[in-house]
Amino acid sequence: MNKDSKIYIAGHRGMVGSALVRALEKRGFTNQLTRTSKELDLRNQAAVTAFFEREKPEYVFLAAAKVGGIVANNTYRADFLYENLLIESNIIHQAYQVGVKKLLFLGSSCIYPKLAPQPLKEEYLLTGLLEPTNEPYAIAKIAGIKLCDAYRDQYGCNFISVMPTNLYGPNDNYDLKNSHVLPALLRKFHEAKEKGDQEVMVWGSGTPLREFLHADDLADACLFLMDNYNEAGLVNIGVGEDLSIKDLAYLVKDVVGYEGRITFDTTKPDGTPRKLMDVSKLNAMGWKASIGLKEGIRKVYQDAFIEKEELKA
Ligand code: GDP
Repeated sequence: MNKDSKIYIAGHRGMVGSALVRALEKRGFTNQLTRTSKELDLRNQAAVTAFFEREKPEYVFLAAAKVGGIVANNTYRADFLYENLLIESNIIHQAYQVGVKKLLFLGSSCIYPKLAPQPLKEEYLLTGLLEPTNEPYAIAKIAGIKLCDAYRDQYGCNFISVMPTNLYGPNDNYDLKNSHVLPALLRKFHEAKEKGDQEVMVWGSGTPLREFLHADDLADACLFLMDNYNEAGLVNIGVGEDLSIKDLAYLVKDVVGYEGRITFDTTKPDGTPRKLMDVSKLNAMGWKASIGLKEGIRKVYQDAFIEKEELKA
């Protein structure tokens, strides 16, 4: 990509898309193309076709998707499958139609089989059954990877797929029912501290293991891969280390400065027992994550809760 290349970031208001926009701006790219979902409904084939024909972007980051935590994924099963298939099919096909030079598709670690060996290597894709709670979302993301590969095979398109681990960062979703674990815990502990509650309920048993990557690290890796990776298949993006939900809860408690008790609500699902990415492929290409978990949580807590309250005051 050149500094003046026309770069379309689909999903620029989301956590990943906004991190990509920040990263491109920081590096001096000047020709970014964005549309809000009101301006362009990516589920609408005719609208996406008209947009690509008019704008003819040279590079595309496909970070638009319907996303959510374990309960949202399990509740809106039809919406997660249908809407994500539409979004990625429309964009990938139009990227081919107008001759986009390169497209980067963002997937998720939930595409790997529920009981795949850990850490998760790229080659474990489609070797076993998926975690039932997010199967519709995972099926849509697997279809996106296969679309990229099929357009490469049949039409020679340089479309690549990357699979981030669990993410956190600015512009995350803090809705208690539908968010992922880290933003949910930040909000729960913060509100408990404010109200003086003596107990915070963490979902599930606390034993599942998860890995967390800051969105700014992800964006940095995506720009790196846009420049350095030109093959079919996928590349994992993660930190290569995980921790239990229980340890995460104590870490968030510590960052927030909450002093009450933590209890576990075992009526809520645990999901996959462990989800750690093998990042040796990416590391071998020369990229490594740089934001530590505690430092990252501190930054996010400061941005999303402390500064917002200072603004309100
Ligand atoms: P997953 O990584 O796809 O399973 O999605 P989540 O980030 O939603 O959940 C990860 C793990 O954190 C699961 O074992 C959840 O049960 C657990 N968890 C604990 N407390 C919460 C919470 O308040 N919200 C969410 N979403 N998950 C929680």
